[in-house]
Amino acid sequence: MKCFYLKDFASQRIQAGEKLIRLEDFEDPDDIKDAPEGMIIFITDRSYNFKGQAFVGRQNKGFAWVFSLNLEDLWSKELFSIYFQEAVERRQSLLDDPTTTGFRLFNGEGDGLGGISIDWYDHFIQINWYSKGAYEYRDWWLEILLESPLEVAGIYETKRFPIGDSEKAMGHVTGKEAQQPLIIKEQNRKYAIYLGQDWMTGLFFDQREVRQYIQEQAKGLSVLNLFSYTGAFSVAASLGGASNTISVDVANRSLELTKENFLINQLDADNLSNEIRIMDVFDYIDYVKRSSKDFDMVVCDPPSFARTKRYVFSALTDYIKMAKDLFKITKAGGLCVLSTNHSAYSKDKFIEDMNEAGRLSGKKVQLIQSFRLPEDYPSSVDPTSQYLTVLVYYCSE
Ligand code: SAH
Repeated sequence: MKCFYLKDFASQRIQAGEKLIRLEDFEDPDDIKDAPEGMIIFITDRSYNFKGQAFVGRQNKGFAWVFSLNLEDLWSKELFSIYFQEAVERRQSLLDDPTTTGFRLFNGEGDGLGGISIDWYDHFIQINWYSKGAYEYRDWWLEILLESPLEVAGIYETKRFPIGDSEKAMGHVTGKEAQQPLIIKEQNRKYAIYLGQDWMTGLFFDQREVRQYIQEQAKGLSVLNLFSYTGAFSVAASLGGASNTISVDVANRSLELTKENFLINQLDADNLSNEIRIMDVFDYIDYVKRSSKDFDMVVCDPPSFARTKRYVFSALTDYIKMAKDLFKITKAGGLCVLSTNHSAYSKDKFIEDMNEAGRLSGKKVQLIQSFRLPEDYPSSVDPTSQYLTVLVYYCSE
């Protein structure tokens, strides 16, 4: 097996626990740049301060993933099994909880192996592959999952790396096919899941604690949910006794998917109690400002980047301006729940920016609660691993 040298700064990062190696981290990037996907390499520095192993898996955030700092670990199905078993043990409380039947089962580098995540949908599995290198070892993963005592009913996958024209980017792989929709529970809230049809299945598990918080706070409140997708936050608010919710998303599919999520929870999907607006969030905010409407709770969970017909939004540069408006349309005594999943937006910077937005809005706002990734999304020390920050502000005047 070939040995590659890392530059000193990169070696220090890897010794501190980072897993991701970028091409520029190698002393001689030209030497490795054409290595085949999935190739196993030894890594060290010029002084041999550490010895590690990595596999090549090109994705936009890097080139290879460290999987061990022990040369005795053998890249094998057995090693994968150990990582998987540890991941399952970390989630035992979720697996034992009959009120929650969907969550993340394996979270890439946070569970020891980058380039892959595995989600659990009530005995159905979706594997997300982020590099061809990780995908090279698909057969080991399928065997491990099918042999596991978890009783896997069927497996789906998405390929989030460049593939050939004739190849399918997502779909059913093996076992039974899931009902469409498959209804999963999250702390007894129900959500409709469509496996194998889209990059997104209907629910982002990483916001579970935030949905629970919203459900607990929402009694009697008017709630505005921006970038609402399938209305997951609106459902939580409505189950918590919100007086009404408004869900806003520009995608047409959101209308039926959101209605369905209300209906399977025995909630009204009429326009009075739970309104769904298919339109651009920025147009909606303008309309609310013009009509002097305001809300007891505003929830905002935008993508890191979005381009619609009229607007371009990039969280790092445009969130402050949007949050300023959101504070303005929150009633005195109300809550503003602001989320970002941009890995380059650190928690400290996000707080600094949202405080600034508060000052610009002319309102008195106070940060009262924050959330990061839940227990089924363990992160490594890599800067891109802990990508989620959700801040709750109390607006007093
Ligand atoms: N908050 C959601 C997840 C949001 S995913 C949840 O709880 O599940 C991002 C969503 O933003 C997508 O559904 C996309 O259609 C929507 N979106 C992106 N740009 C938008 C815009 N300018 N106006 C309205 N919706 C937008």
